[in-house]
Amino acid sequence: MRVIVLGAGVIGVTTAYYLWRAGCDVTVLERCAGVAQETSYGNAGLIAPGYVTPWAAPGMPGKVLSYLFRPEAPVIFRPTLDPSLWRWLLRWLGECTLERYAVNKARMQRIALYSRDKLHELGAAHDLDYQRADGMLQLFRSKADRALAGPAIAVLAAAGVSHEVLDAQGARRREPALADTAFEGGVYLSGAEVGNCPLFTRQVRDLTEANGVNFRFNERVLAISSDSTGVRLKSEGATHEADALVVCAGVDSAALMRPLGVRIPLFPVKGYSATVAIREPTYAPQSAVMDEAYKVAITRLGKRLRVAGTAEIGSHALSLRQAALRCLIKVARDWFPGAADYSQATYWVGARPMLPDGPPVLGASGVERVFLNVGHGSTGWTMACGCGQILADLVTQKTPEIDLDGLTLSRYERK
Ligand SMILES: Cc1cc2nc3c(=O)[nH]c(=O)nc-3n(C[C@H](O)[C@H](O)[C@H](O)COP(=O)(O)OP(=O)(O)OC[C@H]3O[C@@H](n4cnc5c(N)ncnc54)[C@H](O)[C@@H]3O)c2cc1C
Repeated sequence: MRVIVLGAGVIGVTTAYYLWRAGCDVTVLERCAGVAQETSYGNAGLIAPGYVTPWAAPGMPGKVLSYLFRPEAPVIFRPTLDPSLWRWLLRWLGECTLERYAVNKARMQRIALYSRDKLHELGAAHDLDYQRADGMLQLFRSKADRALAGPAIAVLAAAGVSHEVLDAQGARRREPALADTAFEGGVYLSGAEVGNCPLFTRQVRDLTEANGVNFRFNERVLAISSDSTGVRLKSEGATHEADALVVCAGVDSAALMRPLGVRIPLFPVKGYSATVAIREPTYAPQSAVMDEAYKVAITRLGKRLRVAGTAEIGSHALSLRQAALRCLIKVARDWFPGAADYSQATYWVGARPMLPDGPPVLGASGVERVFLNVGHGSTGWTMACGCGQILADLVTQKTPEIDLDGLTLSRYERK
């Protein structure tokens, strides 16, 4: 069976891997010159199935409003006249109830836990080294931060996710390099981990390419058509044909599917990261910490420190905003002042492909032979391997190993 994968971010490349493993003849089409050059490039690297949570949560609308005029806020809303933004926001507001939050979080955790197992299997099968480190520590600056995390800690307990609630001393035992300033402790998630997403994606590209997967770079797909005889993709210089297509085009997936009559309520949510060489390893984190006040993650990726955060909705432009970058460096300096020469940091901005409720959309698109693996929001690295396996199962007409209830496009049709 000939299958085209559209997009070579972490989602597309892992999908290509599992399709190859399922015996398909796979071609990957990508407009960039290599894999993981867009949103999969500069993310925080966290794989934390217990921490996976929808952005649509009770209290979030109020929080977003209260941050409206604070340039260094962790969540920023930039109102525009774009009707798709307002439609997205309305849907998102409807998902911010406690009941919907619980449903969406459970769906996301189902795929995230499955995906972590698949990632471990894939890594072990090919002996991959993608700068993995174990554990993640959430940090509370204040009693208010600790109180806000209460419901999430209750969910962890109810879901049986292994975690330790720690005072400041306990947190320092987990991350001995934490700065010597007062804070209110944290929560340690032993089942979470960190890994270098673009490095992993490049390694999977190399191993699949060596086994016959055809990667075609600098191929911008302009149009998709499909009928009972096959699927055709028109790019700038060619037409590509196959028996099936899996769309993994990140934030651009909705625009590519719209001419086929498929509506995916996807909107880009911008985020930033800073990367800097570790100057003194004993002053750097062992693995990952998450500052709950600023929602900024600080992770160790080999010999470098990655600092990532900020959710900014409303603008499609991928420009660097100085206040957001200053905020990243402030948070890193607050917790790990001696780890790096932060004046040497390099910066990146990316757009999370965000659906209003949280879980991704997997499987049938409603168009013959065209499948979707889209909308992974702020947890695409965490979910990539599980989603890739599921898509390969669906394309080759096998039953996926986990229940797909609430993870397909049909959840929007019911409303
Ligand atoms: C600041 C930040 C921090 C994050 N931190 C984490 C984290 O710690 N853990 C986690 O799990 N996730 C994290 N994420 C989210 C994660 O990075 C994304 O969910 C994931 O990268 C999405 O992968 P993707 O393959 O769908 O998208 P992309 O990586 O954007 O890949 C899509 C590809 O499709 C290609 N494409 C699009 N249109 C076309 C076309 N017409 N023709 C040809 N090619 C096309 C693009 O060029 C691109 O390469 C973070 C995101 C951000 C922004």
